[in-house]
Amino acid sequence: MMSLEAITFDLDDTLWDNRGVMARTETGHYAWLDEALTDWLSRRGESRGRFAERYPLAAYQAARGRLAERFPPRRGDFSWLRERALVELLEAFGLPRSAAWLWASAAMGRFHALRLDVAPHPEVEPLLEELGDRYRLGAITNGNLALHRLALCRHFRVAIAAGEIQAPKPDARPFLAALARLETAPSRALHVGDSWREDVLPALRLGMRAVWIAPDPPPGALPAGVHRLAHVRELPALLTDLT
Ligand SMILES: [Mg+2]
Repeated sequence: MMSLEAITFDLDDTLWDNRGVMARTETGHYAWLDEALTDWLSRRGESRGRFAERYPLAAYQAARGRLAERFPPRRGDFSWLRERALVELLEAFGLPRSAAWLWASAAMGRFHALRLDVAPHPEVEPLLEELGDRYRLGAITNGNLALHRLALCRHFRVAIAAGEIQAPKPDARPFLAALARLETAPSRALHVGDSWREDVLPALRLGMRAVWIAPDPPPGALPAGVHRLAHVRELPALLTDLT
């Protein structure tokens, strides 16, 4: 077996548990917008009622869905969809276009701050530190995180937000881009992720090895080249076995 020289990681639900983060971020930035906008309007002596009463969270989500249908190449660029949906709703609420853009962008600032409030598993920091001495590390995420603001990302030579390059996983392009920038070949690289469809399958198709983070053992045998781990903390032991 070719020796391994690079490892790429999925982030959400691989290096941290993401369920709570998304729920808090989704409701949090919308509630912030509603509050701040109400304040601003009342200070200007305008009364239009409350934004979130006229357009509850479900209306915002529906607006994002419609935009994704209208602009298929953008369907994985969740930040773009959010900001455009906010602008549309704010204009429909009666704000001039320039104010709608300003408020949408302020709400997205709030969104990204909340989205970064992730708690990586405690083992992750020392794990990346140690692996970084032996392998070239990369990150490939479909999530809309401001990666450069995440302290953990200093361990990655390359960090790709696949939605923003309009080729979300399972598209091969973010994997190929990562491999190129890590100056390695698929046969010498391993991808680690929790999604069978978005992490394991595309890595295998390219000829990479794959580690599937899945707490429950699947029925039946896994294809050659795939290893299942219940938790990313088990990765160093597996690498010792592999090499
Ligand atoms: Mg994931």
